[in-house]
Amino acid sequence: MDIADIISSEGIDNRELIQKEFSNGLHRLKFSEPLERIFLQYYNYSILNHIRISLIAGLIIFCSFGILDALVFPEIRNKMWTIRYLIISPLLLFVLIYSYYSKTTRYLQLLYSLAIFAVGSGLTAILLITHDESQMYYSGLVLVIIYAYTFTGLRLRYATASSLSVTLIYSLTSVSLIKLQTPMLLNNIFGLFATNIIGIIAGYLLEKYRRKDFLQTILLNIEKKELKETNLRLQRLSYLDSLTNIANRRAFEEAFEKEWNRAQRYSYPLSLLIIDIDHFKLFNDNFGHQAGDNCLVKVATVLKEFGSRPGDIVARYGGEEFAVLLSGTSIEDALRIAEEIRLTIKDLQISNPKASPEGVITLSIGVTGTVPQKGMDRSMIVKRADFALYKAKSEGRNRTVCLEMD
Ligand code: GH3
Ligand code: MG
Ligand code: MG
Repeated sequence: MDIADIISSEGIDNRELIQKEFSNGLHRLKFSEPLERIFLQYYNYSILNHIRISLIAGLIIFCSFGILDALVFPEIRNKMWTIRYLIISPLLLFVLIYSYYSKTTRYLQLLYSLAIFAVGSGLTAILLITHDESQMYYSGLVLVIIYAYTFTGLRLRYATASSLSVTLIYSLTSVSLIKLQTPMLLNNIFGLFATNIIGIIAGYLLEKYRRKDFLQTILLNIEKKELKETNLRLQRLSYLDSLTNIANRRAFEEAFEKEWNRAQRYSYPLSLLIIDIDHFKLFNDNFGHQAGDNCLVKVATVLKEFGSRPGDIVARYGGEEFAVLLSGTSIEDALRIAEEIRLTIKDLQISNPKASPEGVITLSIGVTGTVPQKGMDRSMIVKRADFALYKAKSEGRNRTVCLEMD
């Protein structure tokens, strides 16, 4: 049972809600719903091994006292062993087996507390049949009560119910059946109640700490989740160009490297377009920087449509320069796509009056492509596309120049 899963599936990833429970739910040993239900589910599950260990230890200790039975009361040894080994131990064993085979741990606490009551009653019965004036086995009852509150992993209410029942049954038996002398009677009953009080305080603190630990684990998980989301957001931001919302140069370089290696491994073609807006400085001078920004966004939006297949990368390469990597696209197809891009932008008719002769925003595009071979450096394809762009500029702009690799 993973607490992170519970948090998201139960919708309790709310920091304020948990903070509130810190002040409200801890001293009352009860959270508000649905947290209480989730806590019990989580607690019953996480305490399971602890319960098994305490049951095994309890069984071993309880059984080994059979040696004392034989040493101190040899004449009624068999009667004592009947109670110890034929009645009480099988009950403890049953709870232990139940903890392994039951699909839900729901009734485990109840069964365990009943078994503890049975152990206490068994010890009382032994005290009764021994007619022991010194009440030697009384210390066993004290041990059982301390065990219930501190070692069993029982929640306070179950530990209290079983321990007080044991106290009550011993008190009644010692008054009515054992008929202890008053000082001894008072001393023993008083002793058991005092043990209960110490046990309740210890059990209360224990459960409070367990609940605190539960809330802190949730908080920690919420923080972990938030941190992960923040990191993801930061990562996304650091790979996105803030103006155009397409990949930035850094993202381009990383994705290009991956795509290049894949194309090399599977021998498929890669084509690269380097695109530059013509006379963009004039546009800025004419209409201002804000209009220039808007124009860049428009160009980026068009480019995104043309480079949208898996493996394609559209990035802002520099100021008014873009790169489009077309994966699995031959140089001929890349040239066709570049021309489509160029004409689409031109058809937008974004006025750039001083950029003669068109008077609108146009693009110059350098294109190249290859099937990446072993030993080939990907910077070669960039240099080639750059050179093609340079040629497009020098031949008069508003054109695509496509160059094969050398
Ligand atoms: P060419 O046809 O030779 O490419 O001419 P050009 O004016 O486009 O090229 P140049 O390199 O002289 O100028 C590029 C301009 O792009 C200058 C700069 O102000 C503008 N620019 C670069 N980045 C941005 C930006 O983020 N926003 C805006 N508005 N303008 C930008
Ligand atoms: Mg330019
Ligand atoms: Mg430029």
